[in-house]
Amino acid sequence: MGLARGLPGPVVPCPALMSPRPPGCAVHGARGLARSGRAGLTLTLYRPLLRMTQTANRARLVLGNWKMHGSLAENAALLDALRAADAASHCQIGVCVPFPYLAQAAQALAGSAITWGAQDVSAQAKGAFTGEVSAGMLKEFGCRWALAGHSERRTLHGESDQLVADKARAALEQGLVPVVCVGESLEQRESGQTLAVIERQLAPVLALGREAVAGMVLAYEPVWAIGTGRTATPEQAQEVHAAIRAALTTLGAPQVQVLYGGSVKAANAATLFAMADIDGALVGGASLVAEEFLRIAAN
Ligand code: PEP
Repeated sequence: MGLARGLPGPVVPCPALMSPRPPGCAVHGARGLARSGRAGLTLTLYRPLLRMTQTANRARLVLGNWKMHGSLAENAALLDALRAADAASHCQIGVCVPFPYLAQAAQALAGSAITWGAQDVSAQAKGAFTGEVSAGMLKEFGCRWALAGHSERRTLHGESDQLVADKARAALEQGLVPVVCVGESLEQRESGQTLAVIERQLAPVLALGREAVAGMVLAYEPVWAIGTGRTATPEQAQEVHAAIRAALTTLGAPQVQVLYGGSVKAANAATLFAMADIDGALVGGASLVAEEFLRIAAN
């Protein structure tokens, strides 16, 4: 099963990438769809939808994911440098820091144009969940963002697609913006499963409904590009972003920002951001160097 391009069929509201799917649904409709080897149907690129999004007016967003890096001293220097930057010289930016440093980020960035958030959030509101951090707790530290389903959580901690959706819902319930990450492995890409994987990962998220999804940010992060120095080409990224945009459009939430992540640097950001459906970046390694991060956000 490869990436599928089809002729557009009639656009029929499709509540989510889930069955049962209405006949003629824009993503899973009777026309212009591609059948996968299994029971599901692949995401399909629709040229009219692509054209629509080229004129859409979505704000650019660049988020840093510090992962498990930093110390009080290192963070202070990085946060000070970000804060000192002229807000007019960059797009909307935010940093997702390790939990223990949320208070430091909140203090350093308060009153600035820079937002902050966490790299994970519990699906539970409270209770006997040792080691978990709830969305309500994040809210108390002024978080705006909560990553959900970063590939390192999915692979190293066995997070399921449903758990990721539950985390996104928990974040939304507390007024946070979940940044839901999806992406295929190299093996999945090379065996032509990319869109099927993205569809599977997104299904329980989109099933939360239009209103919920409208309050999220999505991030396409091919696993093979994260921390490897190997970036997806702008065309490879755009192909997936366009398919995600088509699903969002069908759901009635076309304005949701879809970020690209995977070895984004100042040197490659501009060509990625030039793509019609790439609304910014989720940046790992390069977000630890203020100048590089700001240069990405200056595009
Ligand atoms: C990430 O951690 O989400 C990421 C994209 O990392 P990097 O930019 O280092 O590839």
